[in-house]
Amino acid sequence: MQENNSFLSILPLGGLGEIGLNAQLWTTPKALIMVDCGMMFPEEEHLGIDVIIPTFEHILANQDRFAGLILTHGHEDHIGAIPYLISKIKTSIYGSKYTLGLVEAKLSERNLLSRARLIPISEKTKLSIGDIKFRFFPMTHSIIGCYALAAETPVGKVLHTGDFKIDKGTEDTVLAPIREFAGDEGIQLLLSDSTNIEAEGHSSSEEDISKPLQDLFETTKGRIIVTLFSSHVERIQKILDFAEIYGRTVVVCGRSLHNNIQISSQLGYLTLPSKIIMDPNEIPNLPDEELVILATGSQGETFSALSRMIMGSHRQFAIHKGDTVIMSSRFIPGNLRAITRLIDELYKRGASVFHGGSHKIHVSGHGYKEELRAMLLAAKPKYFMPIHGEYRHLCMHAELGKECGVHPNNTIVIENGTPLILYQDGFELGEKVNVEPVLVDGKGVGDIGPIVLKERKILGEEGVVIINIVLNSHTWDIIGGPYIITRGFVFEQSYRNMLNDSKNIVYEELDELEKYDRELFKDKLRSGYRRFFKAILQRDPIIIPILNFV
Ligand SMILES: [Zn+2]
Ligand SMILES: [Zn+2]
Repeated sequence: MQENNSFLSILPLGGLGEIGLNAQLWTTPKALIMVDCGMMFPEEEHLGIDVIIPTFEHILANQDRFAGLILTHGHEDHIGAIPYLISKIKTSIYGSKYTLGLVEAKLSERNLLSRARLIPISEKTKLSIGDIKFRFFPMTHSIIGCYALAAETPVGKVLHTGDFKIDKGTEDTVLAPIREFAGDEGIQLLLSDSTNIEAEGHSSSEEDISKPLQDLFETTKGRIIVTLFSSHVERIQKILDFAEIYGRTVVVCGRSLHNNIQISSQLGYLTLPSKIIMDPNEIPNLPDEELVILATGSQGETFSALSRMIMGSHRQFAIHKGDTVIMSSRFIPGNLRAITRLIDELYKRGASVFHGGSHKIHVSGHGYKEELRAMLLAAKPKYFMPIHGEYRHLCMHAELGKECGVHPNNTIVIENGTPLILYQDGFELGEKVNVEPVLVDGKGVGDIGPIVLKERKILGEEGVVIINIVLNSHTWDIIGGPYIITRGFVFEQSYRNMLNDSKNIVYEELDELEKYDRELFKDKLRSGYRRFFKAILQRDPIIIPILNFV
């Protein structure tokens, strides 16, 4: 009888209709749990924004019931927002040993470690939170310590795949626990990674890139510089192994690589070669052919080690003729411009560049269509909700679900903020709630809204003009200025006459002012100046009048 009241509500805070910001809230009558707590890197329109994080409003409103955060794996789009969550609420965090290693580093960097209880899970763990029992199935992805969540809930079995791929030849081992969990009747609800639904067939395995990478080590005469994601421990191991085989000393450049290599080797996931230098200040004088430099900067980030080596601002290394640069990582679409620019700069300095687009030295960590199909067939879900993808990915994945036997009414494509409420005998979509993500700029969390972003856009495109005037506070006579200061607008020296002419606007507006009102005068100045610049230059900078009364 009690079971009739049972439900499981899954509220996506992010991750649907976008790649990044993966975070969900799972609610039952007896539990409130967060699954993943990711961040997203800003798009070009988010000028000056460092990161985007999910809203924690719905957790904070139910603090007393909040039972903790479960992590599928340690990528930034799944753990990146944790420090912001932990600064607001003390809680337990469940994840693999490796994932928690990364979380621990993040939290201690910000002095937040004492606010979180880190609880390691493994394939042996049986975790009960409220009325949900969790088990964890190991998955293959581009990071180690990656798990799918298998949940027994009051309304049936739910599987959340996390990010995954299924390497060729491993289908049976990877899918065995899922088949067993599903049993003959199949599971109630599947939530599955949609990232690579557009890619037909089967993805390549990590092993497939060994040969091409080794060939590069075999044939390269000069220095080898490798960029990759610092969390891709398997890939890093591969590079370290080849360095050992070919007698090269490895030098690690860049903070995130340094930290991750340290954490991974301490936890026993990475075997360091005999010749590795973690502190670039200690580099012995070695001939180029005996060096491998592992450098951050695979996405063209301005202040990364690789960018600094190109610009000549790196303390130890500068790119020179004869260098071979291996970029063994995915190019994130939003970064393509920066990456192309970086590759051009490398060529200009005489380096050869090898990347995943031109050579088989990178494989995706997300399964292609046939791997997604294998997951659907193993789990045999009654209800299917594609996750982790842009909107078209979700729709295409839903189509695949139908091909694999899910009833068309039971594929669920929703957007962030719409709760899926699952019952024993069906589901419904709840009323959409506000899950607008939070923009983080430096130390300001959530204080940047659309208006500030618009201002930054205008500043970037049109520049700013500041009009500084000193007035007598009684008579409103101008006793200093007007001083015109511009930034990013026009080259002041060439436009001095125009800017001097513009001062007439100040006198005219002041003459015509109906009453001495500061805000009114500023408004008049803004519109007068905008008309003037539009007429003369067809530009529309931000106008900032500053009135000083003495
Ligand atoms: Zn991932
Ligand atoms: Zn992901």
